[in-house]
Amino acid sequence: MSRPLTELITIAKQNNLSGVELLDDFSYLELARIYNGIGPDRFPDWLRVIVTEANGLFEPAALIHDVEYYIGGTKENFTAANDRFRSNCYALVKAAYSWYDPRRYKWLFRAWRYAGYCQEFGWSGFHKTAEPCECTRCEKSDLDAGNSETAEVTASADVAVEVSEDEPETEQPVKKKKKSKKKGKGKK
Ligand SMILES: [Zn+2]
Repeated sequence: MSRPLTELITIAKQNNLSGVELLDDFSYLELARIYNGIGPDRFPDWLRVIVTEANGLFEPAALIHDVEYYIGGTKENFTAANDRFRSNCYALVKAAYSWYDPRRYKWLFRAWRYAGYCQEFGWSGFHKTAEPCECTRCEKSDLDAGNSETAEVTASADVAVEVSEDEPETEQPVKKKKKSKKKGKGKK
């Protein structure tokens, strides 16, 4: 249900979204690959489900956000990417709905909430350049590189440890949040 990539790029440029120049560093095919996600647990995939709920309103912001996660960096870059996603969503909402339209405030609130999800749950999907990275992209290239049995055994052992420590539901982090709150794990 996602809008065509060309349309997202055009809208991002028309609205002069923050970080839009990053899109120029990638070919159309690269952007398509980044935006379509690389693995099922990659964070922007479930983000995309909720941004697509917004009739695609936030998708141009999500595209830039995906590219920033792909480029990666430090924790500061991660926070900046999520802040940019929020302000870009705000810009898209304001362009779509006038101040007197109640939908403006509904979507502004959603943008704020989605950016909060990014900050809270996005770190594992953000490519880390200052520490060993286990984002889906790095995980995948590890598997591509290591065709030997040892590499596969090590990889599956890692997965087993992760599964035993985490909630069994890895497909839906949004629901996971609610679950862990009930158990009181989310409190700090
Ligand atoms: Zn990575």
